[in-house]
Amino acid sequence: MPNLKPLELGVIFWASSLKPALEQIQGLKALGVRCAQMGIAGDFDPTDRAAEWKAACQAEDFTLLTVTAAYNGEDYADIPTVVRTVGFIPAATRVEREARTIALCDFAHAVGIPVFACHIGFVPHDRDNLDYLAVQAMVKRICDHCAIHGMSFHLETGQEPADVLFDFLVDTGRPNLLINFDPANMILYGTGDPIEAMEVLKGSIASIHAKDGDWPDASKPGSLGSEKPLGSGAVGIPRFVAKLKEIGYSAPIVIEREGTSPEQWNADMRAAIELLKSLV
Ligand code: MG
Repeated sequence: MPNLKPLELGVIFWASSLKPALEQIQGLKALGVRCAQMGIAGDFDPTDRAAEWKAACQAEDFTLLTVTAAYNGEDYADIPTVVRTVGFIPAATRVEREARTIALCDFAHAVGIPVFACHIGFVPHDRDNLDYLAVQAMVKRICDHCAIHGMSFHLETGQEPADVLFDFLVDTGRPNLLINFDPANMILYGTGDPIEAMEVLKGSIASIHAKDGDWPDASKPGSLGSEKPLGSGAVGIPRFVAKLKEIGYSAPIVIEREGTSPEQWNADMRAAIELLKSLV
């Protein structure tokens, strides 16, 4: 990222198969950012699209930081549904999702994007659990495939406490396995204070999402908290940015906003950019 400043502001967007890449990159640049994470949903077909995305980035002098995958069949309705459907934990979709992941890593490499990221799902706390071992083996294979391309694999945080994730990283033992830290997810899933988690995971935090949210309703077991526009949830964005600086984080601050109309997304992104400019 030679042309990006420390703590450069960026956004995560969901790529469309239907619109030209150039138009999508120009839409992001209109927000005033020069970098982004590229979200790729299960229905995006990357076949023969890499050259177009690479040319669009070059034409607009724009940096795509990461391919962040979501998979067909994932459902974030509530915590039991997430456990059942998200990431690599559901055994029935493991083979299909591994093949999709490898294809997206190859797409990322062809575009010139150095990182693949996703939620791997709820990592079991028991290190002898068969799902823990199977997912760990799968993550090792993906890391090794990424390494062939000189790429890293970033785990999106939030669905397990920091110490469980830390143990998983150590057990997996791959130097290109790192963390995309999302402070709001820790709150939405009720897994712990995000600032304390950053202290535990700081040696592995290689990218982040600036996202905000409120804790789950304690009277509704299994419910998720609610995502909020940046600065209006429970994360405490000033303390989050201060902690980033304290741990020496200098990669881009990637703003994430979900579950809104395109118009609201744009408005919330612009407000988040102004807030972060005042803090960085
Ligand atoms: Mg996130």
